[in-house]
Amino acid sequence: MKERALRAIAECEQIAAMTEEPGRITRRFLTPPTHDVQAHLRRRMENLGMAVHIDAAGNLRGRTNLAKQVPGKRLILGSHIDTVPDAGAFDGVLGVTLALECVDLAREKGLPLAFEVIAFSEEEGVRFGVPFLGSRAIAGRFDPALLALKDAEGLTLDESIRAYGLDPGQIPAAAIDDDALGFVEIHIEQGPVLEAENLSVAAVTGIVGQTRLTIELAGQANHAGTTPMHLRRDALAGAAEWISAVEKLAKGTEGLVATVGKIEANPNAANVIAGNALLTLDVRHVHDATRLASVNTSIEMANTIAARRGLAIQCTRQMEQPAVSMDERLTAYLADAMEAADFPAKQMPSGAGHDAMVMASRVPAAMLFLRSPGGISHSPTETVRAEDVEATLHVMRRFLERIAGEVR
Ligand SMILES: [Zn+2]
Repeated sequence: MKERALRAIAECEQIAAMTEEPGRITRRFLTPPTHDVQAHLRRRMENLGMAVHIDAAGNLRGRTNLAKQVPGKRLILGSHIDTVPDAGAFDGVLGVTLALECVDLAREKGLPLAFEVIAFSEEEGVRFGVPFLGSRAIAGRFDPALLALKDAEGLTLDESIRAYGLDPGQIPAAAIDDDALGFVEIHIEQGPVLEAENLSVAAVTGIVGQTRLTIELAGQANHAGTTPMHLRRDALAGAAEWISAVEKLAKGTEGLVATVGKIEANPNAANVIAGNALLTLDVRHVHDATRLASVNTSIEMANTIAARRGLAIQCTRQMEQPAVSMDERLTAYLADAMEAADFPAKQMPSGAGHDAMVMASRVPAAMLFLRSPGGISHSPTETVRAEDVEATLHVMRRFLERIAGEVR
């Protein structure tokens, strides 16, 4: 197992070199380095005897059919291969390299299981502002209106898919149409909980709901020297007031996390009052009612601040993702597998969104977390411990044996 763990880690480090920016890991949806990652993973899949194709949403998919006695029944494993800007080497990718180790393990053990391994093309939502484009297509939940979304260069999603050599008209055909046993995603925790409890792995009970929106504040750009303070309509100062108010709201609400992570001020010059500010808001909570109430309060606060400051305001909701429970049976199997492999059967919710939450709308879905040292992710200092990766494989071996027993 140690060898497998080290191989899965080394492969992530190798894939980390396939990036848009030399010296940093940045791999947005269907940008050129995606070709290199897919070519690498395709070779790995083919060496495992898998039939490989790239669907119209850019997901790389490898299928094996080890179990002729159970036609149409297979377990889906995988995670995403896109990254945030200046990312770490393990978010997403490790779930793919470990999935391939699981396929190889099952083959070695002669388990009667068929697999599909998916390297999801888009999960982070960086390029087009909307996440889960890959898993939406596979779950049959891809809204064709998304194709009109534009990236920072003004290229539409439709155009970017065509430029990659794919036909967006075929996206409906990417949906899984047969009854898979389920989907299991292995992912780093991306938080400090397992480290704080000195645990290697946890089964995920559910994923918090999430709202993302943009707020645009429009005032009046003007001279920084000649315009007295009381005659200003400063969009950036209004934005700052709102950011502080959102932070205060989140700090005062149990379990709530709210983030204004991006701001664009225009004209963004030292001697000009900002005429316009565009901000993003990301709100998450395990209870949908609390999340939605907090989002409404945030918008009301923005309206109040804008009215007082004479700013025009536009709010655009970009994503509403309800909280999603993982499949109880598969999650219990993961917990049993952890005990069978001599690890505490830790269970916890996920504060981050994952492809598994979208897949859960189509097939029974489960997730296995492994420790993030330092609780750090979405950073070049993100890392994993080899012993935790090895622990993950021990748990997955027990899990696959259990599933295989049930298939028989
Ligand atoms: Zn991820």
